[in-house]
Order: sequence, then structure tokens, then C-alpha cells
Amino acid sequence: MIRLTEIKLPLNHAPEDLTTAITTKLKISAEQMASFVMFKRGYDARNKRNIQLIYTLDITLTDSNLTNDLLVQFESDNHVKATPDTSYKYVGEAPKDLTERPVVIGFGPCGLLAALTLAQMGFKPIIIERGNEVRQRTKDTFGFWRQRKLNTESNVQFGEGGAGTFSDGKLYSQVKDPNHYGRKVMTEFVKAGAPDEILFVSKPHIGTYKLVTMVEKMRAEIIALGGEVRFATRVDDLHITDSKVTGVTLNTGETLKTNHVVLAVGHSARDTFQMIHDKGVYVEAKPFSIGFRIEHKQSTIDQARFGDNAGNEILGAADYKLVHHCKNGRSVYSFCMCPGGTVVAAASEEGRVVTNGMSQYSRNERNANSAIVVGIDPERDYPNHPLAGIDLQRQLETVVA
Ligand SMILES: Cc1cc2nc3c(=O)[nH]c(=O)nc-3n(C[C@H](O)[C@H](O)[C@H](O)COP(=O)(O)OP(=O)(O)OC[C@H]3O[C@@H](n4cnc5c(N)ncnc54)[C@H](O)[C@@H]3O)c2cc1C
Repeated sequence: MIRLTEIKLPLNHAPEDLTTAITTKLKISAEQMASFVMFKRGYDARNKRNIQLIYTLDITLTDSNLTNDLLVQFESDNHVKATPDTSYKYVGEAPKDLTERPVVIGFGPCGLLAALTLAQMGFKPIIIERGNEVRQRTKDTFGFWRQRKLNTESNVQFGEGGAGTFSDGKLYSQVKDPNHYGRKVMTEFVKAGAPDEILFVSKPHIGTYKLVTMVEKMRAEIIALGGEVRFATRVDDLHITDSKVTGVTLNTGETLKTNHVVLAVGHSARDTFQMIHDKGVYVEAKPFSIGFRIEHKQSTIDQARFGDNAGNEILGAADYKLVHHCKNGRSVYSFCMCPGGTVVAAASEEGRVVTNGMSQYSRNERNANSAIVVGIDPERDYPNHPLAGIDLQRQLETVVA
């Protein structure tokens, strides 16, 4: 296949314009093209009156010799290349006489995908998740939002699906991905019921309710492949002998022997971080960002970014990204902007205030919200101890009467 990048067409172009753009670019006839698939679709809205869609397209020609000829002919054109192989390559396969099963701690995005991949390789993982399964967890979380009853083990941060289950479900990042691991994630999500468009739109998102059923389907696949998921069960101890993991002890008192543990506990398992630090595991403080959420009308953002094209189905609800570099060397920036969403209480400890943003797939709530954060780092802001950043978080989150 041939990949064409940077194919630009006006926002309201006709579907057949894509074929014309391809044949014109490659100087071929429509008959020489067997098919094409959209790998990516983004937009350039810098000029509100002339918004452009920008495509990356993978083209299959009727004659494979012609494919090779064109790749040679366009060798010096960076926007005409062979389509890379983005399929996921499993790194191993479980032995037929599997005697020891890996333990995955945490069933958020990281644990879920690790467990699914291990299960697909035949390793029959045991997953331990402190929170509840996703339907019960949804009830627990709404109990907190509506009746102010916090379940410290099952909430916005903890439970099946992890911290992002009640979220905007934004599925893009600025991390470079030369091995196409993100494609594996997206492909699994589509298999589990996510809209196909997440495979090609430049800023894919899923929204809260779709995530709930997807997580259930992925859990079902893990179980069908021989995996096991234990909810409302916490790992409270890690056994280490000669610098090697030998097992985990659960809050039920049971010990599971294993030499392979995936620690996928996310960013809010403060007690677990303390536990592994106490066990002598090397823990390093990382820089992170802190701030607050702002809210404003989505229509204001749509108008500012898209002008008369506000409300266009392809463009959807507009987002934004702002940054300010301060004289003191710090940067303040908007983060995790949720178009057409809601600000939610996201605490997992009693007496603390934490906020985040979520939205549905439709992103059609009245307001947009965004975090405004500043980067902080261990050297300047929380020195001397690897867990000092957590003390700072607790201090800032504590409700003062
Ligand atoms: C409201 C909200 C909105 C967000 N929106 C987005 C978004 O749109 N896009 C995006 O990319 N990111 C978003 N995020 C961030 C994203 O959710 C996290 O980056 C992501 O969930 C991290 O995945 P993880 O698997 O590493 O950890 P987590 O999702 O935190 O999962 C860790 C899991 O481990 C479990 N656990 C912890 N300790 C133990 C233990 N000792 N034993 C057993 N289980 C344990 C927890 O219960 C939890 O379920 C959002 C987060 C929130 C809270």
C-alpha cells in the first residue's frame, strides 16, 4: 500500500473529491486504484473562513508493480511513502505447561491492556483490582456525586477501568510511538465497541458511557482466554527475595505466589506507593503539574475557533490549548480540556477536594472545562523524599473548614 500524507481539502468537500485528490497526486487513473482507507483525518482551523481537512490515506492499487514504480517515482516526496506495518507483534507465547501465572495489580487502562495482551499470549493472568466492577463502581461514584458518600475503595479513581472510566475518554497523546503500540490499543477498543472513527480522527475520544461497556467486553475476553479478575481486592504486600518478586498478599489475607507482577496502580494509590517504598523498592519522585479547573460556555469556544462553521459535524465541539511561559521559569498551561463536558469531584480520600473533567461521546453539554496547571518538580517544590510530592498534594487537597 502507498501512504499519502497532507492531502488537504476544504471542510465541506464532496466524498468523491478524495479519489480525485489521490489520482491527481499519484498521476494515475481511477481504474488503477483498487481501494483506499483513511488512516487519519485532522483539520486546520487557523483560518476560520477556510477550514481545511487534512488526510493521511492508505491506497491499494490494482497492480502491485505499479505500487513499487510509484514509490520509486515519488522517492523524494515525503508525503508519498510505503504504508508502514502497524500491526502488533506479540513478544512471546505461554508454554503449553504453564505453571505460574502473572499477577496484574490494578485494572485501569494500563492493567487492562497488559492483562489482555498477556491473556492473548496464553499467560492466563490473575488481575487484582481494589475497586468494584464497573457497574457497581458507577453506582458508588454517583453516590459520591449525588449523596456525598465517598467509598474510598470504589470511586472516580479506583475500580474497573481505572481513573479514566469517568472521563472525556481522550485517546491521544504527544508521546512518540514509533512501534505503533497506540494502534494496538485503538484496535482493541474498536473490537470492544468503540466507534471505528477512533482509528482515523486526529483527536479521538470515546466518552464515559461507551467506556463502561467496552471495559466489560475486554474483561470478558480476558476471562474467556483463561484469565481471572478479582474485584474489591487490594494488594497490601509484595514479597521480595534476593531482589526478585516472589508473590503478593491481598487484603483478604491470601498470598498468591508469582515471579511476575505488573504494578499498574495508577497515580492515586498513595498507600500502595508507601508500601512498595517501605519494602525497599526504588521509588523516584517525578515532576508533575497542579492547578484547578475552569468552566465556560462551549458555544463561546466553538465560535472563537470555528466562526460560521461552529456546529459542523466533522469539527464537533471545539477544544483549545493555551500556554504561558512565566518570567520565573515556570509554565502555566491548559490541560485535559473537556469540550461539552462536566467538572466532577474526583477525590479518593476523605476530607480532600480533587476535581477533574468528563464528557459523553456526544460532547453536547452546555459548558467546556479545562485544567489550568503549573509544572512543579521535586528539586524546587518537594525535595528530600521520593514521596514528598504526595504530602504536597494532600496539603493542597485538604478541605479547610
Ligand atoms: C475524571 C478523569 C478524567 C480523565 N480524562 C482523561 C482523558 O480524557 N484522557 C486521558 O488520556 N486521560 C484522562 N485521565 C487520566 C487517565 O485516567 C489516567 O492517566 C489513566 O487512568 C492511568 O491509567 P493507569 O492504568 O496507569 O492507572 P489508573 O487508571 O489509576 O488505574 C489503576 C487501578 O489500580 C487499582 N489499584 C490501585 N492500587 C491497588 C492495589 N494496591 N491493589 C489492587 N488494585 C489497586 C485502582 O483501583 C485503579 O483501578 C482522566 C482521569 C480522571 C480521573
